[in-house]
Amino acid sequence: MKALIFHEARRIVVEDRDDPTPETGEVILRTDAAGICASDLRVYRGEKYAAPGVIPGHEVTGTVSAVGAGVDSLAEGDRVAVYPIVACGFCDFCRRGLRNRCTSRRTLGYELDGGIAEYLRIPAPIVGQGQLMPVPDGVPAERAAMTEPTACVLNSFESCRFRAGASMAIIGAGPMGLSHVILARALGAGPVIVAEPVESRRQRALELGATAVCGGGPDEITAAVMDGTRGAGADVVIVSVGLDGLTELALPITAKQGAINLFAGFPPKTTASLDVNFLHYSEILLTGSQNATADQFRRTAQLMPALGGLDSLTTHRFDMTNADGAYTVREDPAALKTIVFPGGVPG
Ligand SMILES: [Zn+2]
Ligand SMILES: [Zn+2]
Repeated sequence: MKALIFHEARRIVVEDRDDPTPETGEVILRTDAAGICASDLRVYRGEKYAAPGVIPGHEVTGTVSAVGAGVDSLAEGDRVAVYPIVACGFCDFCRRGLRNRCTSRRTLGYELDGGIAEYLRIPAPIVGQGQLMPVPDGVPAERAAMTEPTACVLNSFESCRFRAGASMAIIGAGPMGLSHVILARALGAGPVIVAEPVESRRQRALELGATAVCGGGPDEITAAVMDGTRGAGADVVIVSVGLDGLTELALPITAKQGAINLFAGFPPKTTASLDVNFLHYSEILLTGSQNATADQFRRTAQLMPALGGLDSLTTHRFDMTNADGAYTVREDPAALKTIVFPGGVPG
């Protein structure tokens, strides 16, 4: 089969690998679509670890093509979205249902082979713990591949104790910031104010249901959020771009008893100096979120038929022969989501 291989920073190559065959408890997927996200780009740039020689791709949907001995929960032809974390099942976090916080977790696309290949071997723990989620009828592969990142967005909302009607400020309108806009509309947010320096991305945010947009300057952001919330500040502030200074900026635009989520990863050693009395007297929740629980992933898969707006986030589609382009084209700010279709780009 053809597979994309990560060798080292800035060196990813399409190569031939043997087709996988399933061992006991395993499943083989024919990969239908695999998305590239900001974390993959950080690996590509050498800012985040992945094992040399690994096949990247943790945002994957596919069709079961073979099942190993002992697998009776799935059959050839089933369409699934992959919750890509191999968790131990026994640590305190796994026992709380937080497989994404497992102390010995390994993730497809980082430590284990992922989905930017024609076939993907699903390790037995993923199959056995019910982490291959059915794709609802009518959801195209391109959208199903976004189940994983969208589950991360649902985790972001739930980390902020989001409730219907809450006002939101979203800083950064890349694919994940825009996904927050889509989920905000689907889950019944109040005003949604989006800050983003790139004009085409601001436009996209408005099309997807943002009630107001502004540029990326601190004064602009503060004015837009205060204006859009009648001076109260936003109930939920999402920092969806990992730039120095944004945590400090987020604090005073947050409503009393509001929440700030540092959704983006930041460059290593980034620090913030906060007005701690503001945090105290306004009862602000300051949190981070990463990945999603299997339950959040399950519910996101079920929400997918209602999230058609996600389809508009894909700006570039690649087949297997030029899969590396899904990384390099992301240097262009006009590019949003890039997706590889290992069986060929749908016509
Ligand atoms: Zn991702
Ligand atoms: Zn664990």
